[in-house]
Amino acid sequence: MILLDGKQTAASLEAETLKRIAQLQKRGITPGLAVVLIGENPASQAYVRNKDRTCSRLGMLSRKLELPASTTQKELLEVIDELNEDPLIHGILVQSPPPSHIDEKTITLAIDPKKDVDGFHPINVAKLAMDDPTGFVPCTPLGCQHLLKAYDIRTRGAHVVVVGRSLIVGKPMALLLLQKGLGGDATVTIAHSQTRDLAAITRSADIVIAALGRAHALGAEHIREGAVVIDVGINRIDDASKPCGYRLVGDVDFESVKEKCYAITPVPGGVGPMTIAMLMQNTVTACERFTQ
Ligand code: NDP
Repeated sequence: MILLDGKQTAASLEAETLKRIAQLQKRGITPGLAVVLIGENPASQAYVRNKDRTCSRLGMLSRKLELPASTTQKELLEVIDELNEDPLIHGILVQSPPPSHIDEKTITLAIDPKKDVDGFHPINVAKLAMDDPTGFVPCTPLGCQHLLKAYDIRTRGAHVVVVGRSLIVGKPMALLLLQKGLGGDATVTIAHSQTRDLAAITRSADIVIAALGRAHALGAEHIREGAVVIDVGINRIDDASKPCGYRLVGDVDFESVKEKCYAITPVPGGVGPMTIAMLMQNTVTACERFTQ
């Protein structure tokens, strides 16, 4: 079994991103990313810290805006407007999920599509669907695709089953796999909570991409011998033996699947690091587009 090492692959990708940052810095330009966090969700705080640290490590400008949970939608829209106008900021993201009084769609629409490094704005969603490379593709599916390419796992003609149909992972993942060319050309099935006999469908896949958000939901019975498994899930489960009281597990039961599959991503250390690396890459791309 091949372990698809997201940390190592993300490090190689970062090396490429660093070269592009160096080119920009020669011209006196520093890519800037603004991350807006509303409220005090511990998981979101951890993600934002991680993004902030990675930005700083790569020599990018990182602006972390931590707003109280009581921030109104109007106040948040004003913050986004300022960031849209700020020439030092090339990428903007609002950490999900926001508090329930904030309408996520309105926020997504308010972000300048040219700074929408998460790729959630309808203009970028449409560009992905239309194979237009001038948009931004959501970081997690892009990271999954890059990992497959990095390990020379061909998607052309392969049957890929994507489990999950969210706008963040499942749908853009399917669209990427359908594009023509390397990393695409797949035959794609999307499964979701209403899918009948999920195991029969995933067992027919050459590649399974699990993005359900349910700990260990896919086991050996879901995977055929020799398949490739990309586990997007990040779930916290109680673990008294850990100082923090929990550990992270994927949507796939790694132990039951590992002997059966050809290759699999670990959790943590699989798709997670790829997502951050892609966010950095998207921000550098945004900066290059603004300054060319
Ligand atoms: P969502 O909750 O938005 O979507 C989950 C999807 O899975 C839905 O489409 C849902 O179907 C489907 N689903 C739920 N239960 C089942 C089931 N029993 N059988 C089949 N399908 C099911 O989650 P996200 O897409 O945002 O995230 C998915 C996972 O990926 C989460 O664990 C999340 O933490 C993780 N994640 C990891 C990232 C990373 O960097 N590694 C980044 C983003 C997310 P329906 O639409 O019918 O409800």
